[in-house]
Amino acid sequence: MTLFAITGTPGTGKTSVSAELRSRGYDVIDMNEHIRAHGLLGELDRERDTHEVELDLLNDSLQDYREDDGLHLMDSHLSHFMDCSGIIVLRCSPEVLYERLESRGYGVAKILENVQSEILDVILCEATDSDIPVYEIDCSAGKIVDSADSIEEILKGNTDNYLPGKTDWSAEMDRWF
Ligand code: ADP
Ligand code: MN
Repeated sequence: MTLFAITGTPGTGKTSVSAELRSRGYDVIDMNEHIRAHGLLGELDRERDTHEVELDLLNDSLQDYREDDGLHLMDSHLSHFMDCSGIIVLRCSPEVLYERLESRGYGVAKILENVQSEILDVILCEATDSDIPVYEIDCSAGKIVDSADSIEEILKGNTDNYLPGKTDWSAEMDRWF
């Protein structure tokens, strides 16, 4: 099985980096598209403005990718809940993340919810809860091509620079909340 998760808080760079990786010949599964195509989009959660997705069914629906010989990556903030060979968590500093989500047109409450979960390492903690190897890339600065280079390094097994624990925005908590 060579299925890798690219996950992270909204705005950290998953979809941009995925587009770059596709242009380099990698197969990156657009998980929103996959979820729709497999009829896995659940009920609308009006409060959170997202659709619920049954994670077990989503996990099962990826079996063909696990069983073939190729390498597949997943672009989704849910991908770290899937059985896979490795999890790459994209990170972004609170300040930069705020700007990215603001320019996306998100309301203040939704921006702050995401900034807070980034500061609290929510996705990283969910990822390290599994027995799957976890890597971390800081995508706050630099270019999308650099972030894609980092992912290629991880896929080649050069993982030393990407072990979790290098980012720490906990000191920003007081400033924001
Ligand atoms: P996500 O899919 O995680 O919600 P997107 O890729 O849609 O994130 O948005 C990330 C935004 O950050 C894009 O506007 C992208 O151009 C910008 N960005 C700036 N620098 C980087 C970087 N080094 N890596 C990834 N994205 C970056
Ligand atoms: Mn995205």
